[in-house]
Amino acid sequence: MIIILLGPPGAGKGTQAKELAVKIGLPHISTGDILRRNVSGSTELGRKAKDFMNKGVLVPDELVTQMLAERLGESDIKKGFILDGYPRTITQAKALEEILRKQGLNVDKVIYLDASEPVIVQRIIGRLVCKKCGANFHLKNMPPKRDMICDICGSDLYRRADDNEETIKNRLAVYEKEVSSLVLYYEKQKKLYRLLADGQAKSVLEDMIELIEACNDSHKVR
Ligand code: AMP
Repeated sequence: MIIILLGPPGAGKGTQAKELAVKIGLPHISTGDILRRNVSGSTELGRKAKDFMNKGVLVPDELVTQMLAERLGESDIKKGFILDGYPRTITQAKALEEILRKQGLNVDKVIYLDASEPVIVQRIIGRLVCKKCGANFHLKNMPPKRDMICDICGSDLYRRADDNEETIKNRLAVYEKEVSSLVLYYEKQKKLYRLLADGQAKSVLEDMIELIEACNDSHKVR
Protein backbone atom coordinates (compact mmCIF):
# COMPACT_ATOMS: atom_id res chain seq x y z
CA MET A 1 0.00 0.00 0.00
CA ILE A 2 1.45 3.34 -1.08
CA ILE A 3 -0.06 6.31 0.73
CA ILE A 4 0.77 9.96 0.17
CA LEU A 5 0.04 12.52 2.87
CA LEU A 6 -0.67 15.96 1.44
CA GLY A 7 -1.33 19.09 3.42
CA PRO A 8 0.07 22.48 4.37
CA PRO A 9 3.15 22.79 6.58
CA GLY A 10 1.95 22.32 10.15
CA ALA A 11 -1.03 20.14 9.18
CA GLY A 12 0.68 17.30 11.05
CA LYS A 13 1.92 15.25 8.09
CA GLY A 14 5.20 14.33 9.76
CA THR A 15 3.65 13.43 13.12
CA GLN A 16 0.83 11.44 11.53
CA ALA A 17 3.02 9.72 8.96
CA LYS A 18 5.43 8.52 11.67
CA GLU A 19 2.61 7.12 13.83
CA LEU A 20 0.76 5.59 10.89
CA ALA A 21 3.97 3.97 9.64
CA VAL A 22 4.39 2.19 12.98
CA LYS A 23 0.72 1.13 13.08
CA ILE A 24 0.68 -0.38 9.62
CA GLY A 25 4.30 -1.51 9.56
CA LEU A 26 5.42 0.39 6.49
CA PRO A 27 8.41 2.73 6.07
CA HIS A 28 7.85 6.45 6.41
CA ILE A 29 9.61 8.51 3.77
CA SER A 30 9.80 12.25 4.33
CA THR A 31 11.66 14.35 1.75
CA GLY A 32 11.95 17.16 4.34
CA ASP A 33 13.64 14.76 6.83
CA ILE A 34 16.05 13.42 4.18
CA LEU A 35 16.92 16.98 3.12
CA ARG A 36 17.48 18.08 6.74
CA ARG A 37 19.80 15.09 7.30
CA ASN A 38 21.77 16.14 4.23
CA VAL A 39 21.95 19.75 5.44
CA SER A 40 23.21 18.77 8.88
CA GLY A 41 25.70 16.32 7.34
CA SER A 42 26.88 19.06 4.91
CA THR A 43 26.59 16.73 1.92
CA GLU A 44 26.67 18.18 -1.59
CA LEU A 45 22.87 17.87 -1.77
CA GLY A 46 22.54 19.51 1.66
CA ARG A 47 24.70 22.46 0.60
CA LYS A 48 22.61 22.94 -2.54
CA ALA A 49 19.28 22.66 -0.67
CA LYS A 50 20.05 24.70 2.44
CA ASP A 51 19.32 28.23 1.14
CA PHE A 52 16.03 27.20 -0.47
CA MET A 53 14.91 25.53 2.74
CA ASN A 54 15.87 28.44 4.96
CA LYS A 55 13.88 30.80 2.75
CA GLY A 56 10.87 28.49 2.87
CA VAL A 57 10.80 27.93 -0.89
CA LEU A 58 10.90 24.63 -2.74
CA VAL A 59 14.18 22.90 -3.46
CA PRO A 60 14.45 22.40 -7.27
CA ASP A 61 12.47 19.41 -8.55
CA GLU A 62 15.50 17.65 -10.07
CA LEU A 63 17.41 17.59 -6.78
CA VAL A 64 14.49 16.30 -4.72
CA THR A 65 13.34 13.80 -7.32
CA GLN A 66 16.83 12.33 -7.71
CA MET A 67 17.04 12.01 -3.93
CA LEU A 68 13.63 10.31 -3.72
CA ALA A 69 14.42 7.96 -6.63
CA GLU A 70 17.49 6.78 -4.69
CA ARG A 71 15.40 6.17 -1.57
CA LEU A 72 12.76 4.30 -3.56
CA GLY A 73 15.50 2.09 -4.98
CA GLU A 74 15.88 0.45 -1.56
CA SER A 75 14.26 -2.93 -1.00
CA ASP A 76 12.17 -2.02 2.09
CA ILE A 77 9.66 -0.13 -0.03
CA LYS A 78 8.37 -3.19 -1.89
CA LYS A 79 5.48 -3.76 0.58
CA GLY A 80 4.55 -0.10 0.34
CA PHE A 81 5.37 3.12 2.18
CA ILE A 82 3.98 6.37 3.49
CA LEU A 83 5.23 9.40 1.66
CA ASP A 84 5.24 12.78 3.33
CA GLY A 85 6.36 16.05 1.70
CA TYR A 86 6.45 14.73 -1.85
CA PRO A 87 5.02 15.46 -4.39
CA ARG A 88 4.73 19.20 -4.04
CA THR A 89 4.32 19.97 -7.75
CA ILE A 90 2.63 18.28 -10.70
CA THR A 91 6.10 17.67 -12.18
CA GLN A 92 6.99 15.77 -9.02
CA ALA A 93 3.68 13.83 -9.07
CA LYS A 94 4.46 12.68 -12.62
CA ALA A 95 8.06 11.87 -11.73
CA LEU A 96 6.85 9.75 -8.82
CA GLU A 97 4.46 7.85 -11.09
CA GLU A 98 7.32 7.13 -13.46
CA ILE A 99 9.66 5.92 -10.70
CA LEU A 100 6.91 3.63 -9.36
CA ARG A 101 5.81 2.43 -12.79
CA LYS A 102 9.31 1.12 -13.47
CA GLN A 103 8.96 -1.05 -10.35
CA GLY A 104 5.41 -2.15 -11.19
CA LEU A 105 4.02 -0.04 -8.32
CA ASN A 106 1.30 2.59 -8.04
CA VAL A 107 0.06 5.24 -5.59
CA ASP A 108 -3.02 3.84 -3.78
CA LYS A 109 -4.33 6.72 -1.67
CA VAL A 110 -3.65 10.37 -1.19
CA ILE A 111 -4.83 11.69 2.17
CA TYR A 112 -5.22 15.44 2.32
CA LEU A 113 -4.79 16.76 5.87
CA ASP A 114 -6.74 19.98 5.98
CA ALA A 115 -5.88 22.40 8.81
CA SER A 116 -6.82 26.03 9.32
CA GLU A 117 -4.21 28.80 9.28
CA PRO A 118 -4.26 29.76 13.00
CA VAL A 119 -3.80 26.09 13.94
CA ILE A 120 -0.97 25.71 11.43
CA VAL A 121 0.92 28.76 12.69
CA GLN A 122 0.50 27.73 16.33
CA ARG A 123 1.76 24.21 15.56
CA ILE A 124 4.78 25.39 13.61
CA ILE A 125 5.85 28.03 16.13
CA GLY A 126 5.89 25.46 18.96
CA ARG A 127 7.32 22.53 17.02
CA LEU A 128 10.33 20.67 18.45
CA VAL A 129 12.13 17.91 16.57
CA CYS A 130 14.54 15.24 17.79
CA LYS A 131 18.03 15.60 16.31
CA LYS A 132 18.54 11.85 16.24
CA CYS A 133 15.26 10.01 15.61
CA GLY A 134 13.23 12.86 14.07
CA ALA A 135 10.30 12.48 16.50
CA ASN A 136 8.09 15.57 16.74
CA PHE A 137 7.04 17.33 19.94
CA HIS A 138 5.31 20.61 20.69
CA LEU A 139 6.03 23.15 23.41
CA LYS A 140 2.35 23.25 24.45
CA ASN A 141 0.39 20.51 22.66
CA MET A 142 2.87 17.66 23.14
CA PRO A 143 5.68 18.74 25.48
CA PRO A 144 8.54 16.30 26.09
CA LYS A 145 8.76 14.89 29.63
CA ARG A 146 12.22 16.44 30.10
CA ASP A 147 12.99 19.90 28.80
CA MET A 148 14.29 19.74 25.19
CA ILE A 149 15.03 15.99 25.47
CA CYS A 150 13.38 13.38 23.24
CA ASP A 151 11.07 11.00 25.16
CA ILE A 152 11.83 8.24 22.69
CA CYS A 153 15.62 8.17 22.30
CA GLY A 154 16.90 10.69 24.88
CA SER A 155 18.65 12.94 22.32
CA ASP A 156 18.41 16.74 22.16
CA LEU A 157 15.39 18.42 20.62
CA TYR A 158 15.77 21.46 18.36
CA ARG A 159 13.61 23.96 16.54
CA ARG A 160 13.76 23.79 12.76
CA ALA A 161 15.57 26.70 11.10
CA ASP A 162 12.54 27.28 8.85
CA ASP A 163 9.99 27.26 11.70
CA ASN A 164 9.70 31.00 12.18
CA GLU A 165 6.84 33.35 11.37
CA GLU A 166 8.52 34.95 8.38
CA THR A 167 9.33 31.64 6.69
CA ILE A 168 5.94 30.16 7.54
CA LYS A 169 4.20 32.85 5.47
CA ASN A 170 6.40 31.99 2.52
CA ARG A 171 5.89 28.26 2.95
CA LEU A 172 2.12 28.69 3.13
CA ALA A 173 2.11 30.90 0.04
CA VAL A 174 4.25 28.38 -1.87
CA TYR A 175 1.97 25.62 -0.68
CA GLU A 176 -1.28 27.41 -1.67
CA LYS A 177 0.08 27.96 -5.16
CA GLU A 178 0.93 24.33 -5.79
CA VAL A 179 -1.57 22.35 -3.78
CA SER A 180 -4.78 23.10 -5.64
CA SER A 181 -3.41 21.60 -8.83
CA LEU A 182 -2.14 18.54 -6.94
CA VAL A 183 -5.52 18.06 -5.23
CA LEU A 184 -7.24 18.23 -8.60
CA TYR A 185 -4.69 15.85 -10.10
CA TYR A 186 -5.38 13.16 -7.51
CA GLU A 187 -9.11 13.85 -7.42
CA LYS A 188 -9.25 13.06 -11.13
CA GLN A 189 -7.51 9.78 -10.39
CA LYS A 190 -10.11 9.10 -7.63
CA LYS A 191 -7.33 8.68 -5.08
CA LEU A 192 -7.91 11.74 -2.92
CA TYR A 193 -9.42 11.57 0.59
CA ARG A 194 -9.84 14.67 2.75
CA LEU A 195 -9.42 14.65 6.51
CA LEU A 196 -9.95 17.53 8.89
CA ALA A 197 -6.69 17.86 10.84
CA ASP A 198 -7.32 20.70 13.29
CA GLY A 199 -7.89 18.31 16.23
CA GLN A 200 -5.54 16.49 18.60
CA ALA A 201 -2.91 14.31 16.91
CA LYS A 202 -4.39 11.15 18.45
CA SER A 203 -7.90 11.70 17.11
CA VAL A 204 -6.61 12.67 13.66
CA LEU A 205 -4.65 9.41 13.60
CA GLU A 206 -7.76 7.44 14.58
CA ASP A 207 -9.75 9.12 11.81
CA MET A 208 -7.00 8.36 9.33
CA ILE A 209 -6.85 4.68 10.28
CA GLU A 210 -10.64 4.46 10.04
CA LEU A 211 -10.48 6.01 6.60
CA ILE A 212 -7.81 3.59 5.41
CA GLU A 213 -9.73 0.60 6.79
CA ALA A 214 -12.98 1.80 5.25
CA CYS A 215 -11.31 2.13 1.85
CA ASN A 216 -9.52 -1.15 2.05
CA ASP A 217 -11.12 -3.82 4.19
CA SER A 218 -8.54 -6.38 3.21
CA HIS A 219 -5.66 -4.36 4.70
CA LYS A 220 -5.32 -4.98 8.41
CA VAL A 221 -4.27 -2.03 10.54
CA ARG A 222 -2.85 -3.26 13.83
P1 AMP B 1 8.87 19.76 5.13
O1 AMP B 1 9.66 19.08 6.20
O2 AMP B 1 8.08 18.81 4.27
O3 AMP B 1 8.03 20.90 5.67
O4 AMP B 1 9.94 20.43 4.13
C1 AMP B 1 10.84 21.42 4.59
C2 AMP B 1 11.46 22.12 3.39
O5 AMP B 1 12.19 21.15 2.60
C3 AMP B 1 10.46 22.74 2.41
O6 AMP B 1 10.06 24.06 2.80
C4 AMP B 1 11.28 22.74 1.12
O7 AMP B 1 12.24 23.79 1.13
C5 AMP B 1 12.04 21.42 1.22
N1 AMP B 1 11.29 20.30 0.59
C6 AMP B 1 10.79 19.18 1.21
N2 AMP B 1 10.19 18.38 0.35
C7 AMP B 1 10.27 18.98 -0.86
C8 AMP B 1 9.81 18.67 -2.16
N3 AMP B 1 9.09 17.56 -2.41
N4 AMP B 1 10.08 19.54 -3.16
C9 AMP B 1 10.79 20.66 -2.95
N5 AMP B 1 11.24 21.05 -1.74
C10 AMP B 1 11.00 20.21 -0.70
